[in-house]
Amino acid sequence: MRKPKPTRTAPTDAALILRLEGTDYQMKRVGRDWLIRKPDGTTYAVARTRSGVACDCPRARYTAEPLRCKHIVALESVGIVDG
Ligand SMILES: [Zn+2]
Repeated sequence: MRKPKPTRTAPTDAALILRLEGTDYQMKRVGRDWLIRKPDGTTYAVARTRSGVACDCPRARYTAEPLRCKHIVALESVGIVDG
């Protein structure tokens, strides 16, 4: 008789951290997009759009031209999103 395989459950304390310019952003995947949260609770969404990857941080939002802010560049550099 075969032994049943142990059931694996997701660890409740698992987290993906992006360290950027000395700040640790906690990352959470939501569908195909990412929420990145600073230690002070400020959260930005990095999402795939028809025209590429977009971020809703102030620098990216208030620039007239599409901008690859530091969040997008960082996520691209570690292979989380494609440019
Ligand atoms: Zn951003």
